[in-house]
Amino acid sequence: MSQGPRLVMLGKQGAGKGTQAARVAEHYRIVHLSTGELFRAAAHAGTAFGVRAKEYMDRGELVPDETVVGLIEERFTADGSPLRGGFVLDGFPRNLAQAEALDAMLAGIDRGLDAILFFDVSDEIGMERALSRAEIEGRSDDTPEVIAKRLAVYHEQTEPIVEHYRATGKLVPLHADRTIDEVWAEIVDALQVVTAA
Ligand code: AMP
Repeated sequence: MSQGPRLVMLGKQGAGKGTQAARVAEHYRIVHLSTGELFRAAAHAGTAFGVRAKEYMDRGELVPDETVVGLIEERFTADGSPLRGGFVLDGFPRNLAQAEALDAMLAGIDRGLDAILFFDVSDEIGMERALSRAEIEGRSDDTPEVIAKRLAVYHEQTEPIVEHYRATGKLVPLHADRTIDEVWAEIVDALQVVTAA
């Protein structure tokens, strides 16, 4: 393929999406787009938009779809957007409406996603890892209560996307309970097929 892969990282908190997204972006020289990071940066900068987003984040709820979809759309449709050369989306889409908006957006540009990497981990491992990250990073939405809320939101709103993408034949389930290097090896194997296409 002349351009880099177009990927989505899907999975609950603590599944390792962010860590692997950074590796994937570096290895394939594609853009790493994390909606959570965009919101945290806006909140840190104190913009009106960031302050509003932080209220949702601190409760462990999803920021409203129009805001998130608008943000992603802007980046895709910008003239000479680096996203055209390939991307890894980390934290988006988070519900079916967002997944459908992304499908429509990509159909409007040219081609769709190449693979959806599904980081499959138990709730227990996801919680454990999120709690230990909380100690290291000190994110304001990493308290035990908010972590539990985010997990509930994942089951209710994000999990249905797994079936949406499974139906496309492009879902790649990963053993995300394994070590970082083991999961990375699974990803490289899976993407060899995609990037050879
Ligand atoms: P993350 O860094 O992906 O765990 O995201 C942190 C928080 O940002 C989430 O708990 C949400 O409040 C918000 N957020 C990130 N991505 C999205 C999205 N695609 N849709 C709605 N809210 C999001």
